[in-house]
Amino acid sequence: MTDLLYLRDSYLKEFDARVVATRGESVLLDRTAFYPGGGGQPHDTGVLRWDGGEARVIAMEKGNGAWHIIEGEVPETGTEVHGAIDWDRRYAIMRAHTAVHVISHVVYTHLKGRITGNQLYPAAARIDFNVPDFNRQKAEWVVEEANKIAMEGHEVNVEFVPREEVEKHPEWVRVDPRLLPDVEVIRLVMIGDIDVQADGGTHVKNTREIGQMVVEKVENKGRNNKRVYVKLI
Ligand SMILES: [Zn+2]
Repeated sequence: MTDLLYLRDSYLKEFDARVVATRGESVLLDRTAFYPGGGGQPHDTGVLRWDGGEARVIAMEKGNGAWHIIEGEVPETGTEVHGAIDWDRRYAIMRAHTAVHVISHVVYTHLKGRITGNQLYPAAARIDFNVPDFNRQKAEWVVEEANKIAMEGHEVNVEFVPREEVEKHPEWVRVDPRLLPDVEVIRLVMIGDIDVQADGGTHVKNTREIGQMVVEKVENKGRNNKRVYVKLI
């Protein structure tokens, strides 16, 4: 199994690893800081370098282990490589991820709604809510509240807890509970003492790093599905 370094350190930009296996243009490493994609957060891109070679990481395979899909030379199994993720892009995605958690906290607390889907982009996000009476005005209010909370400067921390503990706290699960990974230990992302969510993605250390959230567009996707586009400035 690949040691997923980003789960413990979202700010790790570079790392050393060893090639465990290769398959066509894909490389499996024993450890990685590359986020493989999932939960609405896109995979990372970046570069692998080794003695006498270099390749771009253009995508990640989903599924078993963290397979890096590369463009360029393919290092042999056993090669020691140095990986570097495209940090500016990743950091902008981290800001968007924490922003979505703060927004979902406001929607959950004040409108009793849950997120039914989301897609993160660098400094932007698309969020689907199951809130029946939602409109542009409510979206503006939610994002204004989220901005106030973000500006309070809450620290963001990660904790690993047993699955049964999470099952006792349905409020920690903002996505469909069936989407929780089938593992015994669940990772929690905590925003100060105001919000806890089961989550496998990467986040900023402090909500002030989010910047200002702005509503771009609100779409009605049906009675129980409202789609909001937010960007960060
Ligand atoms: Zn999340």
